[in-house]
Amino acid sequence: MVTTLANFIVRHPRLFVLAGAGLSTASGIPDYRDERGEWKHSKPMDYREFAARHEARQRYWARSCIGWPRFQRAQPNAAHRALARLEALGRVAVTVTQNVDGLERRAGSRRVIQLHGSLDEVACLACGAVLAREAMQRGLLAANPELPLLSAGPRPDGDADLRAYGTAGMRVPSCRDCGGILKPQVVFFGESVPAARVVACFDALREADAVLVLGSSLMVYSGFRFVREAARIGLPIAAVNLGATRADSLFDLKLQQDCGAALDAALDELGLAAADIA
Ligand SMILES: [Zn+2]
Repeated sequence: MVTTLANFIVRHPRLFVLAGAGLSTASGIPDYRDERGEWKHSKPMDYREFAARHEARQRYWARSCIGWPRFQRAQPNAAHRALARLEALGRVAVTVTQNVDGLERRAGSRRVIQLHGSLDEVACLACGAVLAREAMQRGLLAANPELPLLSAGPRPDGDADLRAYGTAGMRVPSCRDCGGILKPQVVFFGESVPAARVVACFDALREADAVLVLGSSLMVYSGFRFVREAARIGLPIAAVNLGATRADSLFDLKLQQDCGAALDAALDELGLAAADIA
């Protein structure tokens, strides 16, 4: 019977870590969902709407432009650092993250698959040309100099609340090569995760000996399917999440705790265990 996270980690050294928004909340990037798994804000951008409607792109980029500086300033927190340390100790086979902030790598994790992509890059929907989000930001600010004057709270995808601001006059830069629509390199709602990326995750899952869910309600299918598959093939599953999840009945261990606190406590316990062995 596994009763502590440290115990779970000791017993299963090849962990498949599945990380969600709860990993980054302590970095100032708020969670999508509350403790019951319900949406906290309005739903994020839908792919079809983004691709089809200029107004939707105006709204998206206006919010994104305002939210970006704060998003970009976000720093890895205790949970990211603990996860990187666990990987360095040889305990984490792979981290599959639903987050698009890149904070896992910045904290030092190397075996990371960003399931939903990264906000660092923008791509043309027509020709595939890629540019840095920072370059997009310069273009957005040059075309809309009044935007930085607005301030608002951030969303997990770098969005910000623009309730009081009309975006009808928003000028959205298009692809320099072909004039096509530019979209952040993240998976929007209504869009599929690229197949090769999903295959890589399932391959990693089959190599792992257990799954550790960190800060995800698993309400989104793209992450939930890995936990469901882990349960199907008999892998033990532990989860650290402050609220309910879609897979609570599948867990061997569940900690209703902050990810950083739980991982730090586990590392402390592991440190003591190592000292005892020495
Ligand atoms: Zn293009």
